[in-house]
Amino acid sequence: MNIAMLGLGLMGRAMAQRLAEFGFTVRGFNRSSLPDQWPNSTPAQPGSTATVCVVPTLAEAVIPAHLVWVMLADFAACEAVFLAPEHQSLWRNRLVINGSTISPDQSRALAQSIHALGGRYLEAPVLGSTPQAQTGTLQILLGGASADILQADTVLGALGTPTHFGVVGQGAAVKLAMNQLIGSLTAAFSMSLGLVQAEGVDVGLFMETLRASALYAPTFDKKLQKMVERDFATANFPLKHLLKDLTLFTKAAEAHQIRIEMVRALTDRLAQACTQGAGDADYSALFAELVPPAAP
Ligand code: NAP
Repeated sequence: MNIAMLGLGLMGRAMAQRLAEFGFTVRGFNRSSLPDQWPNSTPAQPGSTATVCVVPTLAEAVIPAHLVWVMLADFAACEAVFLAPEHQSLWRNRLVINGSTISPDQSRALAQSIHALGGRYLEAPVLGSTPQAQTGTLQILLGGASADILQADTVLGALGTPTHFGVVGQGAAVKLAMNQLIGSLTAAFSMSLGLVQAEGVDVGLFMETLRASALYAPTFDKKLQKMVERDFATANFPLKHLLKDLTLFTKAAEAHQIRIEMVRALTDRLAQACTQGAGDADYSALFAELVPPAAP
């Protein structure tokens, strides 16, 4: 099966590589040039020689493809790619799977546009980051038609575990619900860790107590070292995307009269961090935003 991967950012590269290693023919397209060492400097599977063919135009990726996977930053990027006049004829009779994190309304609007252009649209935002993409252990949150899911079955299986939530919009809603938890849990843990450190408490003992309680979440341990060392440089999921997702959550939840003041305060804090240049840092840099370094 030929697959087009549109968007070769952190996630698109990892997913394209995984699909190539699974035996699919993958042609990837990216708007701008890619890091020098890519593709294929560090295959996810040791010893693998599978390569992703990076092509210079979007059409060269899409025309031979049985299925098009889209992994773009946001809605504006999706609109730019889907609706550019020179691309509009490419979607006819094609299945487009959109893995980008966007809002339910944005996803429904894109589905409508793709349908109007004669194509089929499946929403497939993912939970998990580049390590999960490389090992095919993403959780894939589907919204769309069962027939389209069936057609994409082997590709979805290569990337992870799919769950079909219902119509387009419902997979996107679950993704925003989960990412709201990423932001809120990280903020909550950061403040608690900050207090414990400031009072000179043994962090190991604090963590033992937390792990034994009903309040523990595995994400705390995943980010603990980065927070303790205050080293947020290597990002799988950058702060700027968390800001985008919390902004989308706020708007979607507000439309249902959900009180979003707490998330809005967090979003404002993230926006400030991004303005000050932390946008590409790992999202655990939220800790540094909430907990100032101890005085020497
Ligand atoms: P990323 O590294 O920032 O890559 C974004 C991609 O979008 C790049 O290929 C970029 O192309 C492209 N793009 C941005 N604006 C564009 C435009 N106007 N026209 C065409 N292409 C454009 O992001 P990522 O981490 O791969 O994430 C991709 C999506 O998956 C996002 O929606 C993110 O929220 C979601 N997600 C990410 C993770 C994660 O752990 N990173 C996990 C789950 C879901 P250029 O290189 O030319 O800028």
